[in-house]
Amino acid sequence: MKPIQMVDVVGQYKKIKKEIDETALRVIESGQYILGKEVSEFENEIAGYLSVKHAVGCASGTDALMVAMMALGIGQGDEVITTPFTFAATTETIILLGAKPVYVDIDPATYNIDPLKIEAAITKKTKAVIPVHLYGQSVDMDPLMKIADSHRIPVIEDMCQAIGADYKGRKVGGIGAIGCISFFPSKNLGAFGDAGMIVTNDTELAEKMHMIVVHGSRMRYKHEIIGVNSRLDALQAALLRVKLRYLDKWIDARRMAAEEYNRLFKSADIQTPFEVSYGRHVYHQYTIRLKNRSQAVQSLNEKKIPYGIYYPIPLHLQDAYKAAGRPKGTFPVTEKASDEVLSLPMHTELDKEQQEYIVQSIIEAIKK
Ligand SMILES: *Cc1c(COP(=O)(O)O)cnc(C)c1O
Repeated sequence: MKPIQMVDVVGQYKKIKKEIDETALRVIESGQYILGKEVSEFENEIAGYLSVKHAVGCASGTDALMVAMMALGIGQGDEVITTPFTFAATTETIILLGAKPVYVDIDPATYNIDPLKIEAAITKKTKAVIPVHLYGQSVDMDPLMKIADSHRIPVIEDMCQAIGADYKGRKVGGIGAIGCISFFPSKNLGAFGDAGMIVTNDTELAEKMHMIVVHGSRMRYKHEIIGVNSRLDALQAALLRVKLRYLDKWIDARRMAAEEYNRLFKSADIQTPFEVSYGRHVYHQYTIRLKNRSQAVQSLNEKKIPYGIYYPIPLHLQDAYKAAGRPKGTFPVTEKASDEVLSLPMHTELDKEQQEYIVQSIIEAIKK
């Protein structure tokens, strides 16, 4: 059996090595390393793939979130409603801009923000809602948009884990005002370094975001608004253009691997991922749930099978964000999920023999 990896970026590269190598050399020889044609072409291709009007390349998914909020004018004293059960980037960027994250608990089946709990968290200071399509599955967007629209609050979709996922036949990202994408190497569409993108159907917002990523400037040395340096590298854009052509095939491979896991787990009493009827999961993570997780983790460690716990500490309990924190017990669904979730190796190069070994190891471990 091949050694099992959590994500196999090198294995995936080797399958398309010739195209990737030729593209990298072409960009290096061109001398155009930042922005330029590769970036604008990639922006057009992503906009086309997601059926949105505009896409703006930037340096990372974290920057995508920050630039999106900057474009919406979010700052000191504002509140942003989001989930405590995700990667730190959403909370971190809200706080960096001087705003306050206001958390809403998650749905226990999907781990996504519970739209029905959002209304109670809205105040006069609420300036945005940031749902996160966690693990690659869409948030239930219709009820969320209905609440946000009725209060005229813009929605920023954190789709860093969910490029290609859909909601009622529509790709996520263009449902809210802005969608934020990460091309971190381990993401479903991963670069060879950091990269990100922001998408929107709003032309004015797109223009503003194009300026923000280059120091608030449209014309060199003329600065119209406050911006940052968050440009997308030409090399990353060019390599991502090659990989984008494979994305749908890779999503199918992930979905097949998820189906195989589901089949193998069927006989055991283990909670596998819940796929909603209104969306298509792209399985950035395949996350099971175990009451006795530590037993399984110990066995996986002994057998050197990689796994992930996304995320072990909810954001409202993190030391760094204490000022916006809430006491333990405030979000019981999130806190319970943090204690029980376990993400298994998931990538396009996984084979059935490896999956069988992983599942058998878990089933045996929890029987003990
Ligand atoms: C990866 C990720 C981010 C941050 O993206 P980077 O490109 O690493 O900055 C933000 N939110 C979520 C949900 C993510 O998974």
